[in-house]
Amino acid sequence: MSLVIIGTIAYDAIETPFGKTDKIVGGAATFAGLAAAYLYDRVKLIGVVGEDFGEDNLGILRSKGIDLHGVQVKQGEKSFFWSGKYHNDMNSRDTLVTELNVLADFDPVVPDSYQDCEYLLLGNLTPQVQLTTLDRLQRKPRLVVLDTMNFWMDIALDDLLRVLKRVDVLTINDAEARQLSGEYSLVKAAEKILELGPRYLIIKKGEHGALLFGDDRVFAAPALPLAEVYDPTGAGDAFAGGFVGYLARVGTVNFNNMKNAVIFGSALASFCVEKFGTERLRELDNELINQRISRFTELSKFEI
Ligand code: AMP
Repeated sequence: MSLVIIGTIAYDAIETPFGKTDKIVGGAATFAGLAAAYLYDRVKLIGVVGEDFGEDNLGILRSKGIDLHGVQVKQGEKSFFWSGKYHNDMNSRDTLVTELNVLADFDPVVPDSYQDCEYLLLGNLTPQVQLTTLDRLQRKPRLVVLDTMNFWMDIALDDLLRVLKRVDVLTINDAEARQLSGEYSLVKAAEKILELGPRYLIIKKGEHGALLFGDDRVFAAPALPLAEVYDPTGAGDAFAGGFVGYLARVGTVNFNNMKNAVIFGSALASFCVEKFGTERLRELDNELINQRISRFTELSKFEI
């Protein structure tokens, strides 16, 4: 049994009110994989990088025990590159550059050793590649989670709608939920999106937490109030990795476990934003994660 994650493995250049980075390691699969690997020990990645990525950068993932047999290295080509600049509120950002490079003609390889996949995270990347990955798995996984973003809604909506029909859980942010549904109310947006295919929907609201919809129920999770957010990049991916990593660990999918999974996802996301890029996600341990889960429990516990 394993948890397979597909997504970008990238170079990012980030600007926030706290500073600016040159090209640093990023990508949806990178953040999600790092987060998931703290919770579950059989995490396998599918992705593609260029010759410029370097063994030491892949070593960041390998050092956490993540299986990289499904990661292709394309000689003579450049890695996916994304650059973004955050506004002062840190909840919104402008994408400055998206260079697809190796992603433009990425043909995902699913190694035989990945066919034991029970939990699949279709992390953020081309919807067509997400579809191909689903097709190349011989058995339908127990749970398929999809993460995507406005970029793909803008340029590949039809493919994205096709993926949506084949997944169990969708995670998107509030602006993306509004864009996908055409509804401002998140409750109405959720109703419409659940009609598109997924059984569960998670709407991430940055510093305002996350909402889980499904089974005619709603669960609201807080975000940890943090004094300083250095860089929100990858928080959504760390959330998705933490969410599915927790479910893979407990091995049973039901609404109650999903509620806990949302808290684990939120906890991993709260770490992610404390430093630039993947830095904070690389230095965690079980004790730090458990302490943070306790803070989440305290944060919204009340008795009447
Ligand atoms: P997030 O902050 O959770 O939206 O994730 C940011 C990460 O997603 C960065 O590390 C980027 O490399 C990666 N990224 C940005 N744009 C895209 C895109 N269009 N498709 C896939 N990954 C992307």
